[in-house]
Amino acid sequence: MSKGIISKDEDYSQWFNELVIKADLAEYSPVRGCMIIKPYGYSIWEKMQTVLDKMFKDTGHSNAYFPLFIPKSFFSKEASHVDGFAKECAVVTHYRLKNDGEGNIIVDEEAKLEEELIVRPTSETIIWNTYKGWIQSYRDLPILVNQWANVVRWEMRTRLFLRTSEFLWQEGHTAHATSEEAIAEAEQMLEVYADFVENWLAVPVVKGRKTPSERFAGALDTYCIEALMQDGKALQAGTSHFLGQNFAKAFDVKFSDKENKQDYVWATSWGVSTRLMGALIMSHSDDAGLVLPPKLAPIQVVVVPIYKHQEELDNIRNYVNSLSAELKAKGISIKFDDRDTQRPGFKFAEYELKGVPLRVAIGSRDMQNGTVELARRDTKTKETTTQEGLAAKIEGLLEEIQQNIFDKAFKFREENITKVDDYEEFKRLLDEKPGFIAAHWDGTPETEQRIKDETKATIRCIPLNNPQEEGKCILTGRPSKERVLFARAY
Ligand code: AMP
Repeated sequence: MSKGIISKDEDYSQWFNELVIKADLAEYSPVRGCMIIKPYGYSIWEKMQTVLDKMFKDTGHSNAYFPLFIPKSFFSKEASHVDGFAKECAVVTHYRLKNDGEGNIIVDEEAKLEEELIVRPTSETIIWNTYKGWIQSYRDLPILVNQWANVVRWEMRTRLFLRTSEFLWQEGHTAHATSEEAIAEAEQMLEVYADFVENWLAVPVVKGRKTPSERFAGALDTYCIEALMQDGKALQAGTSHFLGQNFAKAFDVKFSDKENKQDYVWATSWGVSTRLMGALIMSHSDDAGLVLPPKLAPIQVVVVPIYKHQEELDNIRNYVNSLSAELKAKGISIKFDDRDTQRPGFKFAEYELKGVPLRVAIGSRDMQNGTVELARRDTKTKETTTQEGLAAKIEGLLEEIQQNIFDKAFKFREENITKVDDYEEFKRLLDEKPGFIAAHWDGTPETEQRIKDETKATIRCIPLNNPQEEGKCILTGRPSKERVLFARAY
């Protein structure tokens, strides 16, 4: 059928692109690197937002909104921040167009901004400039703010969802009286992300810290969650930064403590983006299309009637109405696809492509027998089951599917973490059996860079609670106290 996609084994990257487009999640826009998120894709993102938003609020955060444009001068205030982001900033220089008299629309040079504006790549600078006015004393702390926004990073190599020039995200920005409190906040938000990604996206993650060279520009410490995609490449799924007093110093944000002593404020920031959509797709889907975790699927159950006459359809509809009411009472979303413009086989393929976790097919014979055909998207198994007790059965199955796809992804991840002690073996494995490689590293940025140049593998993270183990650096043979996780990454 026309909606078919290329096999994963044939070309993983093309499979991903075709899937995103054919499953109606998103499409390319006229501007390179930007994407249009279509209603089906957006409804998954909205579900993610709803759950995360509640998790943020449950941990004491409130939402606010800061502007899209940041004065250019703000960026030069924190040196490492500007170094990190300068190469991917979009800059607004003018505020008006004009007609040149020959029918061409051109930039009006007379409408040049006095100070150029940066389209936010992240909002630390504008937010810390604002916090200066909000914070005078320890009584004003902590500030626990999150914003849902779009940001722009002029990425050179873009991929739908995974790396786009404009992306949607949330960014938390908190201010604290002590270093300990800020670190605890950064760690707490990493836990929130890990919990969300594992229990809602059904994607297992490794929690860890970035090496200094992979840290966020301006951070003293970057915590991250790393996931392994089906092709053995790693994906950074979320980050939480301990920013120390860097931004407070850059924007002169001080507070007086209980003893009336002045000190700079301590900061964190943390974010996850529409990249999570990519993580979701690349963790579970197959050659027939998306496999969505039931907890995030916009449609959890689809019912397809199989009938010849209107009377049969009416009969099926009656039954589906009562099933719908029962499922809705359980908070389960159900769609009855009674379109007469498509045949059942077409519909089956469409819902497979779209990753609907459960499909119920009902024919006239089923109505006579009091049965339905129930098909699982994750295992592609079918069974005939009774109409009686179906809602409860569906509820149980949705939980089972959620667990099953997590277990499958977890097993894959575990099978693809390999301890390696020899550099030749390291290189061979990266080509032959990509995945995480746990290897010793001498702790220097030079070695990290050389390994990256020679193999394209980066240190994804130093796992939290990493077992300490004497060893020798995979490249230099110098002593090392723990293994770090290497992988080629998106
Ligand atoms: P950062 O501010 O660099 O720590 O990034 C915050 C989050 O956004 C991380 O989870 C990143 O994986 C994600 N992210 C960074 N760049 C992009 C991009 N170009 N497209 C989509 N997500 C991104």
